[in-house]
Amino acid sequence: MNHTTSHSSSQTPLGRLAPSPTGALHLGNARSFLLAWLSLRSRGGNVLLRIEDLDGPRCKPGAVEQCIEDLDWLGLHCDGDAQLQSLRKERFDLALAHLEAKGLVYPCVCTRSEIERAQSAPQDPLDHGSLYPGTCRDRFATAKEAKEATGLDPAWRFRLPKQSLIRFEDRIHGQVAVDVALDCGDFVVARKNTEAAYQLAVVVDDGDFGINEVLRGDDLLRSTARQILLFRALGFSEPVWIHVPLVCGEDGRRLAKRHGDTRIASYRRRGIKAEEMIAFLAFSCGLRENMEPVSAQELVQDFDLARISKEPFTIERDPWS
Ligand code: GLU
Repeated sequence: MNHTTSHSSSQTPLGRLAPSPTGALHLGNARSFLLAWLSLRSRGGNVLLRIEDLDGPRCKPGAVEQCIEDLDWLGLHCDGDAQLQSLRKERFDLALAHLEAKGLVYPCVCTRSEIERAQSAPQDPLDHGSLYPGTCRDRFATAKEAKEATGLDPAWRFRLPKQSLIRFEDRIHGQVAVDVALDCGDFVVARKNTEAAYQLAVVVDDGDFGINEVLRGDDLLRSTARQILLFRALGFSEPVWIHVPLVCGEDGRRLAKRHGDTRIASYRRRGIKAEEMIAFLAFSCGLRENMEPVSAQELVQDFDLARISKEPFTIERDPWS
């Protein structure tokens, strides 16, 4: 098993943009994707596009195509074809079987909304669930036994080790420590076989594709501790972690539908140019002092992660109204 962190500067940076087609690309996730792309491209790195479409019922028809089109329009071109997580279910099952063989996961029949929602990244407070009390830990020897006893298809939870305090270095947040036992407890890694949860799928994909840099919104900062446990359990080396501040609405909450229509496609329909959009996003993170139109490619030259603002950006009104 490899527990080392791959911070080696000799490695070509390899990262990913990982949109979920549960909603359209909006100013908030576009900003995180711009930063992920700039961080990689400014150091000669490669960018993969991974579509996190495991949560079938929450994925909107046409959203995958729309998202790819929006990223291209913004000039955030990726390398190679988009990878769909929904096509990698067998691989996630293998990883689950591996964890099961090692006794690191156990079947759980607690029917909770948390299990239902586990296929999406826990960005919404609703997705976080509450501290799992360990009801099914050591309750059933196998999934079959759980099913026979209860008639339910069990979900799978990761069995936390005794030492569940995880420390990691984040390029924005510095030293981070999360005790996973206090944060969420044994967490869901699959809703049932062939339905890997976000936490498992993201780690298997990042590990298999050799991702060495993860830059995403800091609503996923605490999830990183869970993912580190899985990176270790599956024998992958950890990427560099960079969690960037979010765009918030006036109420201080993560930008969402309730704050109005901030979809990239809608601005585009209104005639806003990609360079104007990129200029606004760059301004919002402190990379530019004004809103002079600029392309993503032009921002590559002088990109410096150290310059990005550490505070969330609040959108008070439509930037183009
Ligand atoms: N799919 C998540 C999103 O839409 C990102 C997950 C990740 O980067 O780990 O924001």
